[in-house]
Amino acid sequence: MTTLLKNPRVIDPSQGLDRVCDILIVDGKIAQLGEGLNVPADETVDCAGLIAAPGLVDMHVHLRDPGQTYKEDVFSACRAAAAGGVTSLLAMPNTVPPMDSPEAVQKLLEKSRSADAAVYTAACITKVLKGQELTDLPALRAAGAIALSDDGKPVGNTACLLAALKAARQLGMVVTAHCEDLDLAAGGLMNEGETARRLGVQGIPNAAEDCGTAREIAAAASIGAPIHICHVSTRGSVALIRDAKRRGVPVTAETCPHYLLLTDEALSARDADYRMNPPLRTRADVEALKEGLLDGTIDAISTDHAPHAPEEKADFEKAPNGSIGMETSLAAVHTALAGTLSLSQIIEKMSTAPAKILGIPGGTLREGAWADVGLFDPARRWKVDPDRLHGKSRNTPFKGMTLTGRVTATYFRGRKVYGLAE
Ligand SMILES: [Zn+2]
Repeated sequence: MTTLLKNPRVIDPSQGLDRVCDILIVDGKIAQLGEGLNVPADETVDCAGLIAAPGLVDMHVHLRDPGQTYKEDVFSACRAAAAGGVTSLLAMPNTVPPMDSPEAVQKLLEKSRSADAAVYTAACITKVLKGQELTDLPALRAAGAIALSDDGKPVGNTACLLAALKAARQLGMVVTAHCEDLDLAAGGLMNEGETARRLGVQGIPNAAEDCGTAREIAAAASIGAPIHICHVSTRGSVALIRDAKRRGVPVTAETCPHYLLLTDEALSARDADYRMNPPLRTRADVEALKEGLLDGTIDAISTDHAPHAPEEKADFEKAPNGSIGMETSLAAVHTALAGTLSLSQIIEKMSTAPAKILGIPGGTLREGAWADVGLFDPARRWKVDPDRLHGKSRNTPFKGMTLTGRVTATYFRGRKVYGLAE
């Protein structure tokens, strides 16, 4: 099977490439990039006016599979991924039961094989995510887990965290850390601040995240082991990570589209679709995150895609935290960062950098690489209608918003897995 993408603007940060040329795909791989390629192909696609970029790599996704497949499953998540230009994702291990055994890891990877995206998984750092007793890390690695996390919460026992960091370095696994001081966050529903006071609900201070980030950095620094900081939302965390990088601590970090486009004012109507953990913060935090992306403090943008059923999100105070995001991520980031980051920098943060952090294929359109390609119309404006999204859940914080830029097609290993219906 050969596909020829004609005349897109090819943006591939892995090769420092930004020019109009053709892409020839043969048997699932990038066969050739070049101007005016004149080869017979099974399918020739006119891509004039579109961006062609390496498929996005989303390093923070909750598949809800196994155990909560009424919210999402591997296949529905990968359909949402495809519609967002995401061709590789890292699943978080807080499933039911949690990914703390080699069998669970193997089963998920097995099931994912026929999905519309490459599914990788993190395994739990501690048994049943209790934060106290290490899982069998070598066995989880052997089963195929590439990362370790207790995401959803921090590792309670810092000695456990240190042991995991040491083992992960030896095993070549990435530790991705949810940074939160649970005592400081306890009982909070949203960011502590003006809006929370007005609504009369308990807030979560920035310090809850900052203290967690500081601990994680200190732990990693003490043994010189790499650590990845998840879903950074505060200006304090940005400052801590910037300082750690200056000191040579091997830390990487991600933020999410919602922290770049929304603030806690979005919660004024007491709608739980805007409740996630960490919570939406303030304008000052948003600006600090943008600066952090620009100066390289924040390496990557992930979605923290966290599906929940409408009935679960119905009650503002009782609803679980989380929002979906894979299908809207590139459009939301493009909308939020236009004028701050170039398209090439955006694709770097959403594809090339996360692939590199995780040590997986992807994030490149080099000849010989898997043909994971997203086509994106940067000028196209569209209104996010939750009922027209492709996953099982509807809890998007971008509902009703008009975003600029839209994924029009996605190829996964040369196969077209998504095309925008006109
Ligand atoms: Zn988390």
